[in-house]
Amino acid sequence: MTLYNLTIHEAADLLHKKEIRPKELAQSVFQRIRSLDEQIGAYITVTEEAAMIQADQAEQAILNGTASPLAGIPISIKDLICTEGVKTTCASKILENFVPTYDATVIEKLKSQDAVFTGKVNMDEFAMGSTTENSALRPTVNPWKPNHSPGGSSGGSAASVAASMCLGSLGSDTGGSIRQPASHCGIVGVKPTYGRVSRYGLVAFASSLDQIGPLTKDVTDAALLLNAISGYDIKDSTSAPENVPDFTRNLKDGVKGLKIGLPKEYFNTDGIEEDVRSATEKAIEILKSQGAEFVDISLPHTAYAVASYYVIAPSEASSNLARYDGVKYGIRDMDQSELLSMYKETRSKGFGLEVKRRIIIGTYALSSGYYDAYYKKASQVRTLIINDFKKAFETCDLLLSPVSPSPAGIIGEHSDDPLKLYLSDIFTISANLAGLPAMSVPCGFTKHELPVGLHLMGRHFDEATLLKTAYSFEQATEFHKKRPQI
Ligand code: GLN
Repeated sequence: MTLYNLTIHEAADLLHKKEIRPKELAQSVFQRIRSLDEQIGAYITVTEEAAMIQADQAEQAILNGTASPLAGIPISIKDLICTEGVKTTCASKILENFVPTYDATVIEKLKSQDAVFTGKVNMDEFAMGSTTENSALRPTVNPWKPNHSPGGSSGGSAASVAASMCLGSLGSDTGGSIRQPASHCGIVGVKPTYGRVSRYGLVAFASSLDQIGPLTKDVTDAALLLNAISGYDIKDSTSAPENVPDFTRNLKDGVKGLKIGLPKEYFNTDGIEEDVRSATEKAIEILKSQGAEFVDISLPHTAYAVASYYVIAPSEASSNLARYDGVKYGIRDMDQSELLSMYKETRSKGFGLEVKRRIIIGTYALSSGYYDAYYKKASQVRTLIINDFKKAFETCDLLLSPVSPSPAGIIGEHSDDPLKLYLSDIFTISANLAGLPAMSVPCGFTKHELPVGLHLMGRHFDEATLLKTAYSFEQATEFHKKRPQI
């Protein structure tokens, strides 16, 4: 048995039965990282030494009979979630030397459940992008086809899971950055409801949109990881005091009687690639045969979602990123003798092209003469989009679409055409604008053997319905069992 290939629930089962030991599992995963990651480029920092100590602690918890389902499970973490004593770079030059003095709440939670941390994984700089090519270090490649991107911005998370260089990962999703790379790498990705998971210790990109969530090999694993990280946190003022159900409990309930909406604005476009469309249509047939009912619905303001996101997200980013000025965090240009030139040079040298582009757009949209025309207008459009969803959820329990109009692209393909990449966020962005839970589950492959993901969106705090639908679909298919041949 190759231990690194296990899912979280398979490994937990063996660990709890004491058929394998946490250290063996960790060693198998680190061996895999050593042999593969030079090619894949998923990791920025590997934390093997600390992981061995964590594995010992997990073993103790298992022997004491106090172990959680995540005890001894090797997990990778997107490099924008703060980890005490471990570098957190956001894949940016400006934070290349930043070592947080505290853990994000999600990390604290995983530590208290005796998870084992494999390291910090690659991403688009400050989570801005959809290919992981905006990383200041190097692009991560797609384990299914190394000349293709794994998607982004959580590309390191998705590639590390797909290539079995960890058993699960935490990513972040501001406009699709968990779901799209999960889809492109043939794994499961969940963006929880805004407020479900604490953002304390998550380096902010766009605070009203960001959420942390799991990327895993199957739906059961996603439910387990979501159980582990969810819940109200007094340290995050946007965290919701909502009850957290056990997300594994209703997985087997089936989809009989569920009403699934098909937004006509999503499907009536010729922008969806043929292989993606046909995989989505087949998925609809499977869910129908399992007893789900499909209804056509309308989200009339869909056409404005991308535009509104690309005003709101850069505006919030321009404000959030003002703190990187060479004083408190990260690098400082030491050649400057004046304060202002030190700020200027530090930021010019520290930020990459896409980050600068967003800061410029955001600063412009927030400036006094343009605020009403851009930021305020975009916020008004956001309200219209929220209302579209409210109306849709009066008649259906969840919504279905592709995750992305196309599969993973070739690395470098769109590097000089950011607009093309922005437009490909069309199906994922609205869930962030409306704060809804949404997920990606594998639903097929293109003729070139690239994975395709199915997108499900639900009512606020109703992750359970998404997960049981995805689980039901997963039981009827084999896509999640396929692993890249690398
Ligand atoms: N692709 C989107 C962007 O570039 C989403 C990023 C994200 O979700 N972090 O902003």
